[in-house]
Amino acid sequence: MTAAAGHGSPDGTGMSTGTGTGTGTGAGMGTAAAAVASRTALLEAREITKHFPAGRRGAVHAVDSVSLALPHGRITAIVGESGSGKSTLARLFARLLKPTSGQLLLDGRPAPAGRGGRRRYAQQVQMVLQDPFASLNPVHDVRYHLTRPLKVHGLGPAGSLEEALTSLLERVALTPPERFLRMYPHELSGGQRQRVAIARALAVRPRVLLADEPVSMLDVSIRLGILNLLAGLRENEGMTILYITHDIASARYLADEIAVMYAGGLVESAPAVAVTDQPTHPYTQLLLSAAPDPDRPEPAVLSGSGAVPSLLAPPAGCRFHPRCPHAMDVCSQLPPPLAEVAPGHVSACWLHAPKNPATAAAPERRNDDPPTQLADDPSGQQGRQTRPALRHPPFSRPRHGQSNEAGDEPAGH
Ligand code: ADP
Ligand code: MG
Repeated sequence: MTAAAGHGSPDGTGMSTGTGTGTGTGAGMGTAAAAVASRTALLEAREITKHFPAGRRGAVHAVDSVSLALPHGRITAIVGESGSGKSTLARLFARLLKPTSGQLLLDGRPAPAGRGGRRRYAQQVQMVLQDPFASLNPVHDVRYHLTRPLKVHGLGPAGSLEEALTSLLERVALTPPERFLRMYPHELSGGQRQRVAIARALAVRPRVLLADEPVSMLDVSIRLGILNLLAGLRENEGMTILYITHDIASARYLADEIAVMYAGGLVESAPAVAVTDQPTHPYTQLLLSAAPDPDRPEPAVLSGSGAVPSLLAPPAGCRFHPRCPHAMDVCSQLPPPLAEVAPGHVSACWLHAPKNPATAAAPERRNDDPPTQLADDPSGQQGRQTRPALRHPPFSRPRHGQSNEAGDEPAGH
């Protein structure tokens, strides 16, 4: 899906839209690597790694050799359980953490170094955090929160501060703006606070928003409004967004591409519908089996055993092998390569690897083979789709120009 031409960005950034698909095949790169590391990306991590030193116990392998490209004007979701390294990856993208190894590319060039470079980078790549209450200062009103970043970066050539404030609040659907400018964080609902946090990020006129679980602390009833706000920023302004979530249904609703993380690594990445309707990695299948499904009255538990492994001593080979119903000998010995299972769809699983060096027993898979079935898949379905696709996702896709009803949210928590 390409972003609609829209009316252009009110702040005049004039983002290009829909130019990147994340599936380009870069010369000299493996096709699988190229699928996640597209040359057209606005922002890209290449084999980025973060190990947190943990004294004598070694190091927490929070993110290991992750390559992920954020194409222009698209929403990329990272989905994974708690502790899988999602926030660490977001903080690496935001340059709030120094990578242990690996590289960040902005517009295909290494992220600018030095103080000035970091400042330019921070202005283009803004982060929105999970807890809007913690990220706003209770003693200051909305005007205060938005004025500083506007003055530093955001006032257009001839713009006045009042116009810029009004335009920002209108972009996040907090209207009438005069009313909201005077309000303090405690006077706002959770959704309104998150809108102020998003407005503050937008004030510096970024090209990329990194949204780390932006709705998971909000009431279910107001989550959709925030997701639609993000969808609108992509649709109307061509904003490039990284949406981080543990909820694969919301990723399917919002994102163009989904990357699934497990225990610090990327296990599968593809267009959102392909990940949710034709998942190929056993872990993605497990995640989907636990997603809410209106056709299944009983909530599914994550089958297989255990939880995300300790990242102090991650399992050898494939990190998912201790939980995987398909584990073979090779899985505990060698990490699986990312293999392209369909155009733009990569999966890091020995079931899909074109060559299995350690054992001849592993069957070679063709692209048109039905994907793997979890042995104890509660849906009991066999065939091309491992489980009923999210035919009735908890949300339906946003429509262009849909209103957000933000101003009508009751003040409260
Ligand atoms: P997620 O956002 O997916 O829940 P995180 O990125 O927050 O995962 O954490 C991944 C792993 O890294 C966890 O084991 C977490 O405890 C560890 N971790 C995160 N930040 C730090 C830190 N500053 N120091 C040490 N370990 C950390
Ligand atoms: Mg997190």
